[in-house]
Amino acid sequence: VDDRSRQERLEAFEGICRSEGLPYTVQRRVIFEAILDLDDHPTADQVFESVASANPGISRTTVYRNLDTLVRLGAVARLSHPGRVVRYDRRTDLHHHLVCTRCNAVTDFCHEALDALRVPDTSDHGFEVSDYRVHLRGTCNRCREQEEDS
Ligand SMILES: [Zn+2]
Ligand SMILES: [Zn+2]
Repeated sequence: VDDRSRQERLEAFEGICRSEGLPYTVQRRVIFEAILDLDDHPTADQVFESVASANPGISRTTVYRNLDTLVRLGAVARLSHPGRVVRYDRRTDLHHHLVCTRCNAVTDFCHEALDALRVPDTSDHGFEVSDYRVHLRGTCNRCREQEEDS
């Protein structure tokens, strides 16, 4: 994200913490910043590594616990594909993903027709839909190039 929207996100996050009565700690801020700066939907481990390289005192447990808090506050989104490790998304608005089945890269993908999907009636299942994301699975450019080279 660019500097300006980064600053806006940080201010918005500080506001969320305040309205929830949670202290806006340095730890919370650096963890949130790491997710803003990592653009490939990082895993909890990747967030930890990024945070720990600049803040050697921070523990893995602290990072994991704060990630849960960030998701609960709606500051970041949790992305999960069944059977895969949980990843975090700096974007919380409606958007979709291109998921590479070889290297697991996840790229944001915006498409009006997907945004306008009519959510099917799931009441027969006793299930109430709150939200949806479309994951288009396939092979990314880098993996395809590697395949052609070999
Ligand atoms: Zn790939
Ligand atoms: Zn995303």
